Amino acid sequence: MSIKVGQIGKGKFGSKILSKLKLIEGVEIEWVLGSKDQWWNYESEWVVIASPSEFHYEQAKHFLKKGINVFCEKPAAFNYEAVEELYKLANDNSCLFYVDDVLNYEHITHTNKFSYKKWGYAYSNILDRIAYHHFYLIYTAGIGTKFKLNIVKNEKLVKEFTLKFGKELYHFDYNFDWYKKKTHNIEPTTDTDALETMLTAVLTSEADFTGNYYRTIFATKIVQKLKPLLYGKVAVIGAGIYGTTAAIKLADKGYHVDLFEKQDNILSATSGINQYRVHRGYHYPRSKDTITSCKDNESSFIKYYNAAIINDVEHYYCIASEDSLTSPRDYLHTLDECNLHWEIVDPMPNCSLTVKVSESLYAPDPLRKICMDRIKACNINLLLNTEVSTLEELSEYKYKVISTYSSLNDFDKVKKNYQFELCEKPLFILPNRYKNKSIVIMDGPFMCFDPYGFTKYHVGGNVVHAIHSSNIGEEAIVPPAYRDYINKGIIKDPKLTNVPRFIESAKRFFPDIEKAIHVGSMYTVRTVLPNKDDTDARPTIVEFKDDTIVLFSGKVGNCVASAEKIASKV
Ligand SMILES: Cc1cc2nc3c(=O)[nH]c(=O)nc-3n(C[C@H](O)[C@H](O)[C@H](O)COP(=O)(O)OP(=O)(O)OC[C@H]3O[C@@H](n4cnc5c(N)ncnc54)[C@H](O)[C@@H]3O)c2cc1C
Repeated sequence: MSIKVGQIGKGKFGSKILSKLKLIEGVEIEWVLGSKDQWWNYESEWVVIASPSEFHYEQAKHFLKKGINVFCEKPAAFNYEAVEELYKLANDNSCLFYVDDVLNYEHITHTNKFSYKKWGYAYSNILDRIAYHHFYLIYTAGIGTKFKLNIVKNEKLVKEFTLKFGKELYHFDYNFDWYKKKTHNIEPTTDTDALETMLTAVLTSEADFTGNYYRTIFATKIVQKLKPLLYGKVAVIGAGIYGTTAAIKLADKGYHVDLFEKQDNILSATSGINQYRVHRGYHYPRSKDTITSCKDNESSFIKYYNAAIINDVEHYYCIASEDSLTSPRDYLHTLDECNLHWEIVDPMPNCSLTVKVSESLYAPDPLRKICMDRIKACNINLLLNTEVSTLEELSEYKYKVISTYSSLNDFDKVKKNYQFELCEKPLFILPNRYKNKSIVIMDGPFMCFDPYGFTKYHVGGNVVHAIHSSNIGEEAIVPPAYRDYINKGIIKDPKLTNVPRFIESAKRFFPDIEKAIHVGSMYTVRTVLPNKDDTDARPTIVEFKDDTIVLFSGKVGNCVASAEKIASKV
């Protein structure tokens, strides 16, 4: 008998699972994928999910929908409704779903006391890391999920508490700040390997799948209830890509997160309306700091939002023969200094230099879908159409993250000056030769075109004509006529458009541009630090002020690193 298995995840636990899979008779490992692989393009009889916790739900959902059996590392999700959905999908599609409950395969003596002490990775939360396993063990039919909690110790890395279910009292003592030898009082009494036994039972369909369902739902519900009590609540204001990513990372850290968004959807402001480049640095030849931050953080974004990344695009950067702020020599010199690779190709019309480079774009709709899946999986309470007016409204929260981009000053007593630019992002159908091509004429008053998501459209940029109005000050001044345009998605036949000027200025470099069909425009407000015209620098700034964290976004690709910075400090 042969059982074909594919695995997502090559990390520490992934490698451990893999070593056990190799020992199981009949198991044929078809593929093992890492964080940059396109997991959604693979199939097998069984898929083992051993990726970061935030990814489990979306990956399990994908395979179960196709009728593929899934073994998932715990937790399947932080939200029991999301977990219920996965088991239901398995049932509806006649396949199997099993969440790691390895301690149930250890021969252990029953106890009401659980103790686990080790030097822990400060980033992960104790409840999902270990308590979850113990909650599996205390599950008995009819236990219910009502409990009385008594907190003995509640520090960041030390949690000691009791839970009373009816008359039954359980004691949990966790210390991840432990400098001595690791201790775990749940010791197996036999030599059999529980992980191998569990995987064998699951893959041969002999495991107790119904019991696994009940135990998983029980543990997920208990952890879900405990998080706000043991970790506390965090408010994130603004569900752009910065706020949403911070919310996901904070939920992964153990916090209960409320995510406030004044619009009716996430990523509907600047994160959904821009040029969609995951910058590697090619665009910023006058700011080495910006190049460095783009280069350093690009891969964290690509790995985290892999399914939204557009890879099959050719990227060209061109230096115009006239009016460029950077010369071909300076441009290539800077790229060399920063170890950014290039290949000289035939120059575009009226350009002295055109280089082909390797970079990525992201697709806004798939990115929104991934974020929505993670919001659900991470049990983030998303409050759409909810505008926060003052921080005083949020006094119940342990931390507040302000990620409102163009309205950061709304929450700060000490106001800063920013440069606000009301931008138009037109969408075009371009002649076929532009298919899958991103072309930037830089560095000056020029044009660029990039494929728009996985659609047939291109989004246009123009350093001069994209900007309808701008001001330096404490808040953006948006002319009243534009109020119905800003952050409202694609406006068809907009009255207030600069597209004729876009086209006129583009002719110099794109002689066939008159064949472009304008399908509509999007409008949003860009916010940059003032007086940076000499370098065009785009720093991303994470400011910690007591219980408040202010996130100022420079580039989309930096959002995962910024969110990790926040999660590691709180
Ligand atoms: C024209 C243009 C082109 C760009 N091109 C690129 C590019 O190619 N690559 C790149 O990396 N970057 C680009 N950028 C920059 C990038 O888009 C931004 O840095 C990034 O999207 C900002 O993300 P964010 O989450 O901070 O802000 P946003 O996506 O704007 O999210 C902020 C959210 O906060 C909400 N909000 C505000 N106030 C409140 C409140 N009081 N209560 C509740 N919610 C509130 C808003 O509704 C909004 O949804 C571009 C920007 C523009 C404008």
